Amino acid sequence: MRITHRIGGKPWEGVATRAGDVFDPATGQVAARVDFASADVVDEAVAAARAAFTEWREASLARRSGVLFAFRELLDSRKDELAAIVTAEHGKVLSDAAGEVQRGLEAVEFACGIPHLLKGGFSENASTRVDVYSIRQPLGVVGVISPFNFPAMVPLWFVPNAIACGNAVVLKPSEKDPSAAVFLAELLAEAGLPDGVFNVVHGDKEAVDRVLEHPDVKAVSFVGSTPIARYVYETGTRHGKRVQALGGAKNHMVVLPDADLDLAADAAVSAGFGSAGERCMAISVVVAVDPVGDELVAKIAERIAGLRVGDGRRPGCEMGPLVTGAHRDRVAGYLDAGVAEGAELVVDGRDHPVDGEPGGFWLGPTLFDHVGTGMSVYRDEIFGPVLSVSRVATYEDAVRVVNDNPYGNGTAIFTNDGGAARRYQNEVEVGMVGVNVPIPVPVAYYSFGGWKDSLFGDSHAYGPDGVHFFTRTKVVTGRWLDPSHGGVNLGFPQNT
Ligand code: NAD
Repeated sequence: MRITHRIGGKPWEGVATRAGDVFDPATGQVAARVDFASADVVDEAVAAARAAFTEWREASLARRSGVLFAFRELLDSRKDELAAIVTAEHGKVLSDAAGEVQRGLEAVEFACGIPHLLKGGFSENASTRVDVYSIRQPLGVVGVISPFNFPAMVPLWFVPNAIACGNAVVLKPSEKDPSAAVFLAELLAEAGLPDGVFNVVHGDKEAVDRVLEHPDVKAVSFVGSTPIARYVYETGTRHGKRVQALGGAKNHMVVLPDADLDLAADAAVSAGFGSAGERCMAISVVVAVDPVGDELVAKIAERIAGLRVGDGRRPGCEMGPLVTGAHRDRVAGYLDAGVAEGAELVVDGRDHPVDGEPGGFWLGPTLFDHVGTGMSVYRDEIFGPVLSVSRVATYEDAVRVVNDNPYGNGTAIFTNDGGAARRYQNEVEVGMVGVNVPIPVPVAYYSFGGWKDSLFGDSHAYGPDGVHFFTRTKVVTGRWLDPSHGGVNLGFPQNT
């Protein structure tokens, strides 16, 4: 099967000079080939978007929200198909893929309220019979570059808000699981979005670089690993663009001595191994405050033993394969590295039974204890089913560990002490905090974003920050009813 770009409302008809393999991670087989866009193809997509923008920016708010409502209905009625597409190329189990689609739907629902969200301010008589008002206008063509781990949800964090605000979009999804983006494009077209307002180009660095350099692309929303996020931010801003670049993560879950340890162990296992740990909000480090370490590690290990790993399409499987063989091998490499650096390998994921084809990219859930902050298993974003436990003596030590980490995406605290939780939310240098909630992904009417090396730029994703990011403000100062303007006056205007 061949997967190609969608430009100007239809599949691209050219012949690609480069293409990549798309795998079924549960079998290890190549399921499709995806065309890689050269700079020329990106130029075609940007030109189509630019042409469509001229009309789309003039579309009434009623028309724009009408398209989004229709899109919401289509997406809701076909969400199982989209979840199946995600599972086939990413590997996450069907129930997890369905959850991803549902969270994406919430972002569409938020954008349906765009008439309310784009209301400006109005000040009557700012000066005598002079009114001042502000309006928010779209930017033009905007680029969205998304990662493999949420092929439906992350595009939906940005695309609905961008088009609701009147922009035209060029999306460059991950080349590892490109089909979800094509499906979204087809649904948007069916919902009545004019051709060219939403375009999809597939590919790798070559396509990304052209998006970052193209003079007609006014803004870029990026999600991916920290080194690429930093590169996208620096390159895009150097080319005069507005950029928000969300990066990688190392999320800590602090467990205080008064916590409910069964609740904490359930949460650590769910948030550590859901989606095989391939979530930017996955918990990768449990910080156990003395004396809970031994009991907590035992409870986590007991739960890991009961997890069903296998093909995400098979009923009952809770954790699927990793996205590619190369990624599985990279993650598995940390198991030996952790042991060599002195961590205690409590559960070895290589021994876990698998309900799937032998050629799949499998690695079972792994648990390390006594992990020090100097070890590579602690420092690196592993992005796989490897959970580390670090032990500390006090709450203060726990906060220091979290705040010293260069990443600052999400964190959680498990405690029954409201005062301790209040103190943690105030002191921790992380963008999203959960209190007895392990994966605190904000609802669509807040915004999503980390601190430190987890986000470059100053706008978070979706929600109110998304509307802000995809518009620019214009302020109008007007006078209608006062013909006696006082003649020539070279002084700076004052309000009277
Ligand atoms: P990635 O950085 O490898 O790729 C992300 C995007 O950048 C893809 O579209 C890819 O084609 C492109 N890309 C890759 N290499 C490039 C290069 N050298 N130059 C230009 N573009 C390049 O990330 P991934 O492996 O697809 O996704 C996993 C990463 O994304 C993890 O680090 C995860 O934490 C992060 N992530 C972050 C968030 C967040 O909200 N902070 C959300 C999801 C994923």
